[in-house]
Amino acid sequence: MRDGEHAARLAAVQDLAARAGVDALLVAPGQDLQYLTGYDAVPLERLTCLVVPASGPISLVLPRLERLAAEASPLGRLGVQLHPWGELDDPYAMVASVLGPVDRVAVDNHMWAEKVLALRAALPNAEQVLAGPHISELRMRKDEAEIGALLRAGAAIDRVHAAVPSLLRPGRTEREVGSDIADLILREGHVRVDFIIVGSGPNGASPHHEVSDRVLQPGDVVVVDIGGTMPDGYRSDCTRTYALGSVPDGFAEQYAVLLEAQQAAVRHVAAGVSCESVDAAARDVLTAAGMGELFIHRTGHGIGLDTHEDPYIVSGNARPLEPGMAFSVEPGFYVEGQYGARIEDIVIATADGPLVANQGPRELVIVA
Ligand code: ZN
Ligand code: ZN
Repeated sequence: MRDGEHAARLAAVQDLAARAGVDALLVAPGQDLQYLTGYDAVPLERLTCLVVPASGPISLVLPRLERLAAEASPLGRLGVQLHPWGELDDPYAMVASVLGPVDRVAVDNHMWAEKVLALRAALPNAEQVLAGPHISELRMRKDEAEIGALLRAGAAIDRVHAAVPSLLRPGRTEREVGSDIADLILREGHVRVDFIIVGSGPNGASPHHEVSDRVLQPGDVVVVDIGGTMPDGYRSDCTRTYALGSVPDGFAEQYAVLLEAQQAAVRHVAAGVSCESVDAAARDVLTAAGMGELFIHRTGHGIGLDTHEDPYIVSGNARPLEPGMAFSVEPGFYVEGQYGARIEDIVIATADGPLVANQGPRELVIVA
């Protein structure tokens, strides 16, 4: 992170708030707080709230016992005024007194409902709106350092996928394979495992299946979708589909269509094309092959400090891609009771077209 980057982000979000007629943004621990200040606080029951007025000094209301942690984080160098509260204080009243009179406050999208409602009670005259749309205007446009972080995350998860064929053997359970994958995700440079999907046989037809005690069988198709968080906070997310020995009748032909669809969508990525047209580029290939009904989700999601964030690659999102926007391209097909398949890469739009963060082979990997 460049010196001054967080200060620039805070100034930019103040500007967006002012233009939107919002008096202040109220940001709780989470990726918005991390993005704006570098303070990666754990969301807990005690209130921590960054108070960002549309102009003027920025404050952090926080539990007294977390003051040292906040000061030690990059936030400590931003000149943010700290307002520590003791166990018997009312932190919501403290936010109200820091704010002064306000008509409209924007609360971050991931603030817990109990805190949103307590803030409503402490600020009875202030309309509450969402801060997410303002902060995501900044977060969805990645700078060079963030693009570098996503490429490193992509390379790390590629190294994990390279080892997956050696873990898939008939007789092992999805859970055993998933446990080995978790170890590898950490060994290859992540600090946290975010999710592990090992969808074998019919479980592959459930796109958000995680792991189960199902025992891998010869002839299984196995969808492996995995991701973690790197030390700098940026996330990986990559899916490959494997087969144990032979594949079911007709599967190879369907997989070839899926690969064509995924590559068509990646090739379509360019500054100025709409998010929904990237979705259509994948979907049209599957539909033309009579497989449109089997593709039951959007083509992708933005990625950065969160695994799922703006922009979403989905029909109805006419937003044009801009250089620096990063998102997954992950079409799939799902046949209930039998199998599923998905191919997922993280792609970054650049002025010169798509920059793909994942480089592992996308062809069906047959594990002998
Ligand atoms: Zn994924
Ligand atoms: Zn994904």
